[in-house]
Amino acid sequence: MRFSTLVVAAALLFISWIQPVPGSASEGEKLRIIIFGAHPDDPEYKAGGTAAKWAKLGHHVKLVSVTNGDIGHWQSAGGPLALRRKAEAAAADKVLGVTSEVLDIHDGELMPTLENRRIVVRLIREWRADIVIAHRPWDYHPDHRYVGVLVQDAAYMVAVPYFCPDIPPLKSNPLFLYSSDRFQRPYPFRPDIVVAVDDVFDLKLDAIHELASQAYEGGAEGNAERVAEVPPAENVAARKEWLRKRWSVRQGGEADRFREALIHWYGQDKGKAVKFAEAFEVCEYGRQPSPEELRRLFPFFD
Ligand SMILES: [Zn+2]
Repeated sequence: MRFSTLVVAAALLFISWIQPVPGSASEGEKLRIIIFGAHPDDPEYKAGGTAAKWAKLGHHVKLVSVTNGDIGHWQSAGGPLALRRKAEAAAADKVLGVTSEVLDIHDGELMPTLENRRIVVRLIREWRADIVIAHRPWDYHPDHRYVGVLVQDAAYMVAVPYFCPDIPPLKSNPLFLYSSDRFQRPYPFRPDIVVAVDDVFDLKLDAIHELASQAYEGGAEGNAERVAEVPPAENVAARKEWLRKRWSVRQGGEADRFREALIHWYGQDKGKAVKFAEAFEVCEYGRQPSPEELRRLFPFFD
């Protein structure tokens, strides 16, 4: 090959390398999203599909479990379970293409303390989040509930300079959202944003497959009879098929429950055709976005 040909080839290679994936965000437009859950499976279950969709477009996503999950199994507990669940979350989040963190706070013992409020504020500031997602603060599970309270309590403080003055405050308040649940009091979940996850459903299943202590062994609610009904670990294909059936019902139920909102965001034809969905509610304490801003932050509807 002549030198000039080599130069042209190298230049073409460089141009193809710097060309963004179609539809992906340029560096200045990239969003930063942090998703909190109480246990190492909650952020993945509640928002794993949407997280993967942001990540595919080049946005920066982090999933945080606020407790270490160390009582979340019927057969084991303590340090070994915490390590196992941290590794499971890391593997799942790698599949989704997002950053993973599991805090070392005991499962079942999370409290909405000032110390924990500081931890949450620091995490949101360090990530320089545009979007923050967490449980609603009236969940049945005390850990879920207090993650909701802690994140809600952080909503204003993240922009206050002399709260945790060791880390710079955010210049503008992020958008805070709740992940969906079925609790009716004090009011039912309101689907302000509903995202179709059909295109990343297989990826989400692959991620959940990594959370074996929960997805296949039943976590704290498991037992020997239940585990016996699940295909063995060696038979990966059968396990994934078992998972697909269960999650088709679960995620399909969300699409049916929020069909009206899906049609609002996607239009009649597309909205009706969505099979699997994840939904979020705008928290009153964060930034109140216009419909245009919501479309910018959730760039999935065109
Ligand atoms: Zn949980």
